[in-house]
Amino acid sequence: MSKLRVTIWNEFVHEKKNATVQSIYPDGIHAAIEAGLNELGADELDITIATLDMPEHGLTEEVLNNTDVLIWWGHCAHGQVEDAIVDRVQERVLGGMGFIVLHSGHFAKPFKRLMGTSCALKWREAGEKERLWVCNPGHPIAAGIEDGFIELEQTEMYGEPFGIPSPDEQVFISWFEGGEVFRSGNCWIRGNGKIFYFRPGHETYPIYKNPTVCRVIYNAVKWAAPQGRWVEPLKAPNVPVDQAREKITAKGGSLHAEGEAGFR
Ligand code: ZN
Repeated sequence: MSKLRVTIWNEFVHEKKNATVQSIYPDGIHAAIEAGLNELGADELDITIATLDMPEHGLTEEVLNNTDVLIWWGHCAHGQVEDAIVDRVQERVLGGMGFIVLHSGHFAKPFKRLMGTSCALKWREAGEKERLWVCNPGHPIAAGIEDGFIELEQTEMYGEPFGIPSPDEQVFISWFEGGEVFRSGNCWIRGNGKIFYFRPGHETYPIYKNPTVCRVIYNAVKWAAPQGRWVEPLKAPNVPVDQAREKITAKGGSLHAEGEAGFR
């Protein structure tokens, strides 16, 4: 069986500037995610790393055309992501590429584009405990979470309201020590692509070294992988009357010339 082609995109800025983040992720957050995935499925996954500072942010046509699932971590440099690359990611997701957005990626340009909403949330940095409850235990993304929840001793708080469209499926809901709750594991379908947002990942805690967090990302990669054939998004082609599957006669007027391309 051919391997799943996974690209991990990391803006890779905090790890080079902040001593705390550097001490936790000396090789970058992407390296920790890669190690976590390889721990569970090295023989199933073919992983590529892409970072903001690479040409075209490492997301060239060639890289994206050879990616089944794109994982995205970004925080302080969302604005530096070129719109042309956002267009490319969006197009590819609509065509069937899986897209996993982590933590502060809630404000990443391609995520906001695909959601079409503010994606805003409440937050607080107080090193609080988070308990992510599995609210959909039969979902493949929750596979292997025996206790019915994941507990993170110290993390940043994200709270509702979360400015997302209602998820097609919700896998986790978080409770925080300070009392807030948050939809922390959410699935959507956009076009032919599957999208999963997963909240854990604040950069000043070793979240991506937690085996259960890595298990969820691994499960999400397998869930988001394209299952059918790749489908290019339709460009609204006209079907001329004489090419209808059954013979028909045109009635009434028509606003457009037959064979005219695109929707007007
Ligand atoms: Zn954070």
